Amino acid sequence: MKHTQAAEIFKDFLKNGRNRITPERFEVMDAAIDHQGHFGADDLFIEMKNQKSRVSRATVYKTLELLVNCELLVKHNFGENLTRYESNYRKQTHDHLICMDCGRIVEFINPKVKKLPGEIASSLGFEVESFSFNIFARCKSTKDCTFYKKEKK
Ligand SMILES: [Zn+2]
Ligand SMILES: [Zn+2]
Repeated sequence: MKHTQAAEIFKDFLKNGRNRITPERFEVMDAAIDHQGHFGADDLFIEMKNQKSRVSRATVYKTLELLVNCELLVKHNFGENLTRYESNYRKQTHDHLICMDCGRIVEFINPKVKKLPGEIASSLGFEVESFSFNIFARCKSTKDCTFYKKEKK
């Protein structure tokens, strides 16, 4: 186990939910935390397989959901067939812009966006628990958009 602090959090979570504590689940946890940027469950499964891991696809899927529930990962629904996970372990919040053609995901941090949910919620008599802000867009230049690159081939 590489991430012992995360492993503690995960272990407690599994225990409290009466989930089985298996070495495979911690293997998935390490791989998911180390993964840069956004990834799909299948991406992680294939990468782990390439690293000679024996973890099953079902275990990867199930474990990713458990990691979301204990907040070590964040799950993004960027659209149909575009579920992406992201490590939440080194918490740094940002928002996303997604190209609807090629699926390219760009992260950004904008102070205005950060402040807005709090302002809206408090003006309506609420406190913000969480919010999500996704911009769905299209690459301006078809040269940058892999969707068009694929079409040409
Ligand atoms: Zn992100
Ligand atoms: Zn694009």
